[in-house]
Amino acid sequence: MHIPDIIIAIDGYSSTGKSSFARLIASEFSFLYLDSGAMYRAVTLLAIEKGLVSAEGNVDVAGLSSALRDFDLHFIRTEDGSKTFIGDRCIEKEIRSMEVSGKVSPIAAVPCVRDFVDMRLREFGKKKRVVMDGRDIGTTVFPDAELKIFMVADLHIRAERRASEMIARGEKTTVEEVMKNLQERDFIDSHREASPLSKADDALVLDNSRMTLQDQMVWIKGVIRERFGGISD
Ligand code: C5P
Repeated sequence: MHIPDIIIAIDGYSSTGKSSFARLIASEFSFLYLDSGAMYRAVTLLAIEKGLVSAEGNVDVAGLSSALRDFDLHFIRTEDGSKTFIGDRCIEKEIRSMEVSGKVSPIAAVPCVRDFVDMRLREFGKKKRVVMDGRDIGTTVFPDAELKIFMVADLHIRAERRASEMIARGEKTTVEEVMKNLQERDFIDSHREASPLSKADDALVLDNSRMTLQDQMVWIKGVIRERFGGISD
């Protein structure tokens, strides 16, 4: 199966299934997958552990900017997919906690945090054949990405999916609590000054409320075939 050398940018609201879709695309197309949300979550964990964000979400911007200077954030590929690390400490589970989810959007609104993440993402994109998911990949990080997808899904379905993932990982939460967090994050992400979440003009909208991952793969292969020729399966 031949897939052209392109960047695939997947943006959209919280818990619309962007990362599950992006991971599957990466594995089927042999692309590199980058989870930009994991980077914002890792910076949030740093801010929490260093006492740089208050319970109300007020951020000590100067303190955070200085802490980012020697923040050793990286990803390691394991048999179980790519995992997020600070130094030699795996933080994959902690960054998915409700505590981090509750503070990540104010942290992601800080311009020096966005610069920190964007610089790393652009470095990875130089060689193409990457799929990235986030909120501003198609609008700010890679405005020239060859394929941009904007994902949406019904709020109740999103909350149910995310709550069951979290409960399966052993976190105590409810669909209502998750739904409140998703609404808060969607609001902050769409209304912040720096790179707000919005659909790029040339992005294709994918509503996956009633689609399986396999349905979504059939859809994207159809799009690629139509736009670039290429795929033969
Ligand atoms: O994708 P995920 O839900 O893990 O992202 C966590 C948070 O990181 C989002 O709610 C958003 O505040 C922030 N984010 C962002 N820009 C991105 C990716 C994530 O602002 N490109």
